[in-house]
Amino acid sequence: MTTVHVDWTRCDGHGVCARLLHEKITLDEWGFPLVADPEIEPYLVGAARQAAVACPALALRLQ
Ligand code: SF4
Repeated sequence: MTTVHVDWTRCDGHGVCARLLHEKITLDEWGFPLVADPEIEPYLVGAARQAAVACPALALRLQ
């Protein structure tokens, strides 16, 4: 199972991830991502990859 993780040493709270993977990521009141459930269902893997590539800080990792 693919999982998504935020590298907090890099994340700047740009919020791009929440726009591209809104099924899994919401933003807190400061614009930082909240991942309630890191497991990525197969139908969301493409969107998760796009979100990871689009993160300006390279802070979103898939495993
Ligand atoms: S896009 Fe990247 S830097 Fe921006 S909130 Fe998401 S993980 Fe953090």
